[in-house]
Amino acid sequence: MASESIDVYRSLADEEIVAEIEALAAPLQGARVLHLSATAQGGGVAELLPRLISLKRGLGIEAEWHVLAGSEAFFDLTKKLHNGLQGMDVELRPDHHSLYYSTLEANVEVFTRDWDYVVVHDPQPAGLIGILDGRRTGHWIWRCHIDTSTPNPKAVEFLAPFMGAYDMSIFTLEDYVTRDLVGGRTAFIYPSIDPLSPKNRALAPPEARQILATRFGIDSSRPLMTQVSRYDPWKDPLGVIDSYRRVKERVPTVQLALVGNLADDDPEGAEYYATAVEYAGDDPDIHVLSTLDRLSDQPLTHALEINAFQSGSDVVVQKSTREGFGLVVSEAMWKATPVVGGRAGGIAHQIEDGVSGYLVNSPEECADRVVDLLQDPKLRREMGARGRKVVRDRFLTPRHLADYLRVFRTF
Ligand code: UDP
Repeated sequence: MASESIDVYRSLADEEIVAEIEALAAPLQGARVLHLSATAQGGGVAELLPRLISLKRGLGIEAEWHVLAGSEAFFDLTKKLHNGLQGMDVELRPDHHSLYYSTLEANVEVFTRDWDYVVVHDPQPAGLIGILDGRRTGHWIWRCHIDTSTPNPKAVEFLAPFMGAYDMSIFTLEDYVTRDLVGGRTAFIYPSIDPLSPKNRALAPPEARQILATRFGIDSSRPLMTQVSRYDPWKDPLGVIDSYRRVKERVPTVQLALVGNLADDDPEGAEYYATAVEYAGDDPDIHVLSTLDRLSDQPLTHALEINAFQSGSDVVVQKSTREGFGLVVSEAMWKATPVVGGRAGGIAHQIEDGVSGYLVNSPEECADRVVDLLQDPKLRREMGARGRKVVRDRFLTPRHLADYLRVFRTF
């Protein structure tokens, strides 16, 4: 696996955190750290882990990443567990238990060596601790990335029998702690965005606007409000269209972009995208974009396009009604673009209302705040600058890495 020096972040993050990371890592030289997760591509965890692991290696820690091998049926089951933990009603049958355990049993070869720390991400590999039982070594940490504030009891019952064996459970927010899923101590860690990734690297607004004009037909001389999100009811794309229509009454030149990727295995996403297209009607100033049409599905080009929307919009909206964390909020704030976000989950942890962005509770409020920003370039600049500072201080990769090292040092 790649190894990378933390020095690459010196100019991007706070100097102090880089020094702190080096101090935290010093006693961990040679420590063997295993991260276990369900997929190497797609989703926030896969986006976060490669850089965190290569930085740990650059600090002298023997960090590795193992991705579970499993059948389609196994991943269907673990998607049910994931949805169930987020509160959805799911059907879990007795044969699901045997499928879960037999798949995990087939993944134990990574434990033929001893580990000092094992970080298990999300529910998919969580049961390995039960299978290894007396054979396990090191400190085991369950890292839950999802919103488990109101889980379905069936999903909790499925996982509960072995979760108590963990030495520590890490959640994103305190609200997400579910008693039966906690083993050992609890800790809270925010995720992060990587300022060095193609999605977040500096892209000058004129260059961004050029991409938006040539690839997506967006008029760079007129204001643009954008939401970047999967097509999902919790992200409220229809509410964003309602807000845009209200904004349009007061700022007639405004344009709206709804930007979202669609996974092949997500029929709900395609359906909801079609609903948004229909709701937008024939307004030429609404651009409902997806990977089904003009948005690229090639990872690098896609990342650059997302970057262009986040860097080249006048206002980014994230009108979610429920949101685990909402990385897109930090991504836009990092580009100094002001964000109007729904007052939900992790969004309220990133935006301080009226200071580093706005928090809203309805399409009407959202429209009012977007108009305030569109009519006041100075406010946009100031709020954008404060937003970027928040992300620089709290939501970049180095802080996230420091949090993990601090956790390891508590054992
Ligand atoms: N994303 C993307 N393309 C899209 C929509 C989203 O690459 O068309 C990325 C986005 O940049 C972010 C992640 O997917 O990195 C979404 O994370 P977030 O926490 O905002 O929401 P989630 O989809 O996990 O609920």
